[in-house]
Amino acid sequence: MPFSPLVSLSDGRAIPQLGLGVYKASDAEAFHAVSTALDAGYRHVDTASFYENERGVGEAVRSSGVARHEVFVTSKVWQDDHGYDETRRAFDRSLDKLGFDYLDLYLIHWPAPKQDRYVETWRALESLKADGVVRSIGVSNFHPHHLERLEAEGTQTPVINQVELHPWLQQQATRAYDADHDIVTEAWSPLARGRILEDDGLAELAAKHGVSPAQIVLRWHLDLGNVVIPKSITPERIRQNIDVFDFSLDDDDRARIAALDSGLRTGKDPDDLG
Ligand code: NDP
Repeated sequence: MPFSPLVSLSDGRAIPQLGLGVYKASDAEAFHAVSTALDAGYRHVDTASFYENERGVGEAVRSSGVARHEVFVTSKVWQDDHGYDETRRAFDRSLDKLGFDYLDLYLIHWPAPKQDRYVETWRALESLKADGVVRSIGVSNFHPHHLERLEAEGTQTPVINQVELHPWLQQQATRAYDADHDIVTEAWSPLARGRILEDDGLAELAAKHGVSPAQIVLRWHLDLGNVVIPKSITPERIRQNIDVFDFSLDDDDRARIAALDSGLRTGKDPDDLG
């Protein structure tokens, strides 16, 4: 059974480099997907209050037979709950739905700069970590200028920045900033929501290696050092997406994928949301 390698975090903890995303899955779909994934060797699941499937995720983990401490679970605070007290209450609701007594990683889902409350939201995450109910804290969709603001306010550095990242949107500036500040970059929509899998060049690389285009893209992410959370509710795809540890890309393959960078987003620019 394939298991993901771990990536070290700056707080001394570690995260499995490959996990399962569950955006747009219902509670029932998330339950089945997470159960299948844990059977297939996954030990990392990415959810959020916004996905409205924390109950399904929690039930799957709790009924899996895999010990809770072996599974790394992430959730996120939505921008409607920004603010110190609001965030602490939102965290309690998430933990209750998951049915856990702690969370591995809690993220600010979007900076929502127009509200300008992400610094106090971050202080709430720091307090949850101090209370021991969350092991690691990070952010999502933060541009370098949002991270600079956190740094200027003299707070702890996030251990992770989860951003949209795939061959069409390679996020060089954010990845460089993260690396300089000991922040792990995590890729959401690593398959560009499945759309990039139609690319002819990726199909050629897949044929060359005897794997699928999704496996080529995931291998590319892992080689870059990204944490990666492909979403699928399809059992064969869930198993396929973690079966990426027994082939390697060469320099020519990597150069061909690097050339796909076009700046194309499937989601919103973080400065435009909230
Ligand atoms: P992905 O890039 O992971 O693509 C998911 C799509 O690709 C689904 O339609 C899935 O279909 C399909 N797919 C998955 N594996 C394969 C495969 N091997 N072959 C063919 N098709 C495949 O998109 P997401 O947007 O879901 O991103 C992944 C995760 O990132 C989310 O689930 C969520 O956890 C996180 N995320 C975070 C955001 C943030 O703001 N922080 C924003 C968006 C996502 P099917 O399920 O039908 O199998």
